[in-house]
Amino acid sequence: MENSRPNDTPLVTSIIHAASSELSPISNGGNGRQIMKLVINGDSHTQAHLGQVITHYLASLQPHRQRFLVANCIALHASTWFIYVSGYPTNEEFNYEALAPLLHLHLNNAGDPFHGSSFTLNSTSFEVSVLDWFANLWDIEKNEYWGYVTTGGTEGNLHGLLLGREQFPDGILYASQDSHYSVFKIARMYRMQCIKVASLISGEIDCHDLKALLLANKHKPAIINLNIGTTMKGAVDDIDLVIKILDKAGFSRDRFYIHCDGALFGIMLPFLKSGGPKITFKKPIGSITISGHKFLGCPIPCGVVIARLNYINALSRDIGYIASRDATITGSRSGHAPIFLWYNLQKKGIMGIKNEVENCIRNARYLKDQLGDAGIGAMLNEFSNTVVFEKPLDDEFVSRWSLACNGNIAHVVVMQHVTIQMLDSFVAELVHNRSIWFQEDGIRKSLCIADEVGAVNCSCALHKANMDIQPNNYALQQIKQNV
Ligand SMILES: *Cc1c(COP(=O)(O)O)cnc(C)c1O
Repeated sequence: MENSRPNDTPLVTSIIHAASSELSPISNGGNGRQIMKLVINGDSHTQAHLGQVITHYLASLQPHRQRFLVANCIALHASTWFIYVSGYPTNEEFNYEALAPLLHLHLNNAGDPFHGSSFTLNSTSFEVSVLDWFANLWDIEKNEYWGYVTTGGTEGNLHGLLLGREQFPDGILYASQDSHYSVFKIARMYRMQCIKVASLISGEIDCHDLKALLLANKHKPAIINLNIGTTMKGAVDDIDLVIKILDKAGFSRDRFYIHCDGALFGIMLPFLKSGGPKITFKKPIGSITISGHKFLGCPIPCGVVIARLNYINALSRDIGYIASRDATITGSRSGHAPIFLWYNLQKKGIMGIKNEVENCIRNARYLKDQLGDAGIGAMLNEFSNTVVFEKPLDDEFVSRWSLACNGNIAHVVVMQHVTIQMLDSFVAELVHNRSIWFQEDGIRKSLCIADEVGAVNCSCALHKANMDIQPNNYALQQIKQNV
């Protein structure tokens, strides 16, 4: 089994010997992964020796990469031999070798990308070009938007929700229970009153519940966190319905703020062949954010936030020290990240992005169907590449395929690097393991996941009959919310 040492033990030993002071034997991190223990001592080491440690580190990542199924947020780009099927939606398929010379520079975009910075080694021209691209994607004029390249989706949420709070200091934050954990953390950080809204089985915000909550809190403005692809189920909240509900509940446009969290799917949605809800600043939204290391596949965590300029003016302060305007969450900001994003967008082109999105969606549907054919309950939202299914009973299997789990369910986010062959071997291994898990003691049975994915998508003893009637059921998302 891959869980034991990789086949490079001799190298490990030699490294440990050569550098016994800072590299103690590889230990098991408790989740089936090996962790290198590196201790920094006072000695100076040669370049060759340090290079050896890095080489060893790269080799230690390889076995994991071959089964990285989740990848939406852990990018490993050291070379092209990494292939993963995993629960974390990162794109493992990119080559940034042309940018290697930039690693010799400290590039810092501290401050407002549109106001420049006193730090001359910056890449704000790349940053603004990336921001313009996203502004155009989401239909907002250059002179009406502001934005910046962040450290990731979380910072984008920190920024967007701050704009909402500055606009409405006594506003209530509404977020569905399927929202990313960062949203609830941010509510605590900003000491905002936050109301958790129920979700539908698909993972979408339950507009019926939202309406009731809005009506019960009419006296306070509403700040709404809208999910463009939830983390666990990949659900896209119905933006038009949410806007309609706000109107019906008596919230005029000057009494609500909508922030869109599109970490993974926000960049995929506009390129879907099959349409899907349209996210645009032509609708009354305040801000949108995406992560750059998820779908786009940047090798370092980063993201983009775009907001209406008029909200920014209320927030920002001029700062003499950096000769810029202070409207960002962090001070110093990566000058490399905008170049990675720019390079990535330029290299893929619109057609490239479209093809990648279609590929992910097609392969996700393939996985969902393969699981269904094998009698394993699974759910896939219509506009999503996240396949949800029963949590495998063995932690070792979960860790081996880097699956992300929550309660009784696990998910695979089918990213660009995930091939049909990987999916086939994943399903074959899951089917094989289930037959062992379920036979071994005769006690363990397929988990009931009807509460999480609906009875039609559940293959437990009780619900299996439903599945047999509708083996490839995408019907859930077609049920219109009746509010
Ligand atoms: C991943 C994710 C985030 C957080 O993004 P980071 O880039 O990891 O900070 C926020 N929201 C959603 C829906 C996500 O999937």
